[in-house]
Amino acid sequence: MASLLVTGGAGFIGANFVHLVRAQRPDTEVVVLDKLTYAGNRAHLDGLDRVTFVQGDVADPDDVRRAFEAAGKGARVVHFAAESHVDRSIDSCAEFLSTNVVGTQVMLDVARGYDVERFLHVSTDEVYGSLPDGAFADEQAKLNPTNPYSASKAASDHLVLAAVNTHGIPAVITRCSNNYGRFQFPEKFVPVMITRAMQGKPLPIYGDGLYVRDWIHVDDHGEAILAVLECGETGTVYNVAGDNHRTNLDVARLILAAVGAAPDAMEHVQDRPGHDRRYAPDDARIRDQLGWKPTRDFESELAATVRWYGERYA
Ligand code: NAD
Repeated sequence: MASLLVTGGAGFIGANFVHLVRAQRPDTEVVVLDKLTYAGNRAHLDGLDRVTFVQGDVADPDDVRRAFEAAGKGARVVHFAAESHVDRSIDSCAEFLSTNVVGTQVMLDVARGYDVERFLHVSTDEVYGSLPDGAFADEQAKLNPTNPYSASKAASDHLVLAAVNTHGIPAVITRCSNNYGRFQFPEKFVPVMITRAMQGKPLPIYGDGLYVRDWIHVDDHGEAILAVLECGETGTVYNVAGDNHRTNLDVARLILAAVGAAPDAMEHVQDRPGHDRRYAPDDARIRDQLGWKPTRDFESELAATVRWYGERYA
């Protein structure tokens, strides 16, 4: 079976995906290319066999070539590596342009020399920008990124589709909503809320707390990626969603309950500049064409996630 090259495989979603591949596709040889930024942790892959680790930068063609050499010709690629935190992109955007934009183009350029069987680019529902109540963005919706992170991801999506058109790269794109689960660096909403609640500190809530996100378990996302990797159509974008729309206040209250803290242990803090109010991807295409749907229950999996952080960060 062709090997699988996973960029960003030491990060949150990438590491969970490598574990999922090991469990569900045991014959697959995996090569991970990861720079090990603050968000990556080699230990996330501990205990896994048939995983070759290459430390390197997706924006460096020599590093990328080393990873493709390790994976061999005809490999399949899942490209997760990115700078992924919106607040950091607002503070400083240079790394986002280097990794998300230049890095994606370098991956596409090098992939041309290795006859890749499939190139799956992992993108985000944030490229559609904020939507009014009741509206959903399908894959034809206009891209409307409104912060430097989502703008860099939208740019990378365009580069991937351009490589399909101009170089015949057999690429596909997934655009998923907000993930939760183990291995996430504690700067993002769910692990920040969990670790603060465990420390007995008030949960910091941006603005009025009524921002709406669709939440999906990281393994439901991983299974969607496998479905698109194996059965997706070249040049096609697939939205991925949990059909689970929650305000930040709702999620914070569930976390407080799971930790056993007071239900009002929250403080409203200064809002993120240009904060998008609501994301809502329409994922009818992947459900109808590939038969994928999320299967994990939000409240019980969120409680399991709280326990996972409790064992490590309490
Ligand atoms: P993460 O920040 O947890 O992990 C990113 C990984 O990429 C880390 O291991 C890091 O070391 C690595 N990396 C960063 N820069 C690199 C570089 N220049 N070269 C090689 N490796 C590098 O991110 P995540 O939350 O796991 O997100 C993974 C992908 O999924 C991203 O492309 C993101 O845009 C997308 N996505 C994330 C979410 C979410 O809810 N977290 C939702 C939809 C899409």
